[in-house]
Order: sequence, then structure tokens, then C-alpha cells
Amino acid sequence: MLNDKESQLAIHKGRPVRDSLLPYGKQYIDDDDIAAVVATLKSDFVTCGPMVDAFEKNLAKSVGAKFAVAVSNGTAALHAACFAAGIKEGDEVITTPMTFAASANCILYCGGTPVFADIDSKTWNIDPKEIENKITSKTKAIIPVDYTGMPVDIDAINRIALKHNLIVIQDSAHSLGASYKGKRVGSLADMTEFSFHPVKHITTGEGGAVVTDNEELYKKLLLFRTHGITRDLALLEDNTQSSWYYEQQHLGYNYRITDIQCALGNSQLGKLNGFVKRRREIVNKYRLAYSKIKEITLQDIPDYCDSSWHLFVIKLNIKMLNGSRNDIFDALRAENIGVNMHYIPVYLHPYYSKLDYKKGLCPNAEELYEGIISLPLFPTMKDEDIEDVIKSVEKVIRFYRKKI
Ligand SMILES: *Cc1c(COP(=O)(O)O)cnc(C)c1O
Repeated sequence: MLNDKESQLAIHKGRPVRDSLLPYGKQYIDDDDIAAVVATLKSDFVTCGPMVDAFEKNLAKSVGAKFAVAVSNGTAALHAACFAAGIKEGDEVITTPMTFAASANCILYCGGTPVFADIDSKTWNIDPKEIENKITSKTKAIIPVDYTGMPVDIDAINRIALKHNLIVIQDSAHSLGASYKGKRVGSLADMTEFSFHPVKHITTGEGGAVVTDNEELYKKLLLFRTHGITRDLALLEDNTQSSWYYEQQHLGYNYRITDIQCALGNSQLGKLNGFVKRRREIVNKYRLAYSKIKEITLQDIPDYCDSSWHLFVIKLNIKMLNGSRNDIFDALRAENIGVNMHYIPVYLHPYYSKLDYKKGLCPNAEELYEGIISLPLFPTMKDEDIEDVIKSVEKVIRFYRKKI
């Protein structure tokens, strides 16, 4: 049994489980990574050079795709993918509300209309049946998101896309290194987006990429990354000009990534398997512990999914507790556990409310949102850190548990 001082919540002036805050996510950068960056800094190219090509080749190979285009961040990657898919004003694109705003913002950037399809209440990923319900004559694409790192049911989504002639852009910002029915994420959709923000599986500081097997999409992605400008003879409208000649054919952006970042990304990519392995180990320990707590529901993992676990999210069964999600969140923070919240359903943000999206649109996502908390998960967590998180969750739940 815990003594009084230990069982009293830190938020009620008890002793916290930890003395210092355990963050929810964190990059791992070692001397090899630093040496790779330094070598590039000393080389002839800090941008538009050989490290960008090398990183793209290695990334494509690692995820089982033909082509990769690396860009300045994951949001830019989604924007480029929407451009390549030809999204424009009047087009509808279906996505999930249980995601980071970028998955829907990229549709708005192109003048399209995001249409939110509800999640499955067990897997917490977009429900293919709900996608089918939302299809109209204006639908052009689907952007499913591998929430927490668990691949969406891509076969079902691709079947719908084929039937209605839609492009699938898989938002795999959470799922680098994951697989679906034995196939790697990155080889499953028309285009797949990754993010290399420091909390994601590998980092380039800021960075992102789109991978595809389709050469036509690949060329559009390249154009978009550099202002819509090309020198590619095969693409030029006027190919009678001199060798210096280039044309701006679309309104693209400067979404380039630097060689400095790609040197880091390349070095990090070599560590991806180890990172994913450790994330899976941590999650196995978490799931074993939390499956014994009846006030907690865990995400269902279909047997054909091998998640790479970007996030670990628990859902509190609020009816069994004497406190709200926010009470429990604050209590865990006071124990020095760096909990976080992923996500507010996108359409509930004030910006989207003003665009006339209404509460009640996706009841499963809203219900999930009321109960979720993200727990710390990153590869350099020590076994003692995992124990601290489990101990804190048990301590806080024990306090808020309804006594019958
Ligand atoms: C991280 C993330 C992105 C892209 O984020 P950037 O910070 O722009 O790299 C896109 N979608 C989801 C679901 C994400 O978590």
C-alpha cells in the first residue's frame, strides 16, 4: 500500500511521482547525426545539392515507393500533394476530423472544400463507410490519416477511390515505418505524406515529403516545390530556347528543404528501425498495464496493422469517474507527466466554425475527443520513465474512480 504522502495527488499538494517533467515526445540526435550535418556545412552545397537527392532516394526505398519529393515541412507536403491531385475551387476532399489541422488546411489552400467523415469508434481511424456516405459529384480526393501511427484500412479506401475515380493522399505523418497487411506505409496510396518534425519518427528539424509511384504526380510535386518553375525539356511549353531557359507554368511556392536538413534526415533514417522497435516495446508495456484498468479504453488494433506508434492515446470512460478529462489531465501534469491532447476535431476550431461547420457533424470523433489524453512516447524513454507514467495513471485514476 502507498502511504498517505505518496497516494495524495500532487495537484492536492502530495508528492509528485516524478521530480522533473517527462515530455510527451522528443527527438533523438546523436554524434553521427551531428557529424553528417557538419560534413554538409563544409561541402559545396547547403541547399539544392546532393543530400536532398540522397535523402529522397533512401526515403523512397525505405517505404517501398518509386519517387520521393522532400519539402520544407509536412504541411507543405500535403499542400503539394493537393496541388498534384489537381484540387481546386469547387472540389470536395474527404478527410477525418481526428487529426492535426494541416490535413484539412491543405484542401483550403487549394480552394477546395474539406468534408469530414466520422471515425470508427473502435479503431479511431476514418470509417470507410462514412467516406462512402460523403461522396458527391464534386468529390475529387480522400485524405485518410493514420492516427497515432496505425494505418487506415487502405484497401477499403482504395476500393472506394477506384469506384468513384478519386485520388488518395495518405497522411502518414504519424506512421513512418508502419505496415498494413505486410506492405509498408508509403507503398499503399496514390501519394503518401510524411513529416519530420522533431516529435515524429525521424527529424530534419522541420521537414516533410511526399512519396508516390506515379511519375506524372512526381513531376507536379517537383514543380510545386520550386515556384511552379521547370527547366525539364520534356515539360517546357517552348523547347526551342537556349539551355538556360526556364518557364513558370503554375503558381508554386518555395517549399525547398536544405541539404543541411537532408543530411540529418538521411542519418536519422538509418535509425528508423531501432526507433520504431523501441516505440513498440513501450506501447506493449503501456497496453498491458492499461488494459487492466476498466476506466480506460484503448485503441483497437486490427490484426492486419503493424503500427509504428507516433502517439499513445488513452480514452477515459468518463461515466466511471468523478472527474472530467481535464481534471485528470491536470492531475497527471502535476505528477510531472507531460501529457498532451491529440486532437480537437478540426471542424470545432473557431476558424472552421466560421466556415459553417457545426458541432455534431462527426459524433464518434466528438465522443472520443471528450475522453482522450496522449501519454509520453519517444524512443529514448527509459524503463523507469514508463513505470512513472503507469504509476501516475494508476494513482490519478484511483483517486477519481467512482466508488460503488
Ligand atoms: C505533424 C503532422 C503533419 C505535418 O506537420 P508539419 O509540422 O507541417 O511537418 C500533418 N498531419 C498530421 C496528422 C501531423 O501530425
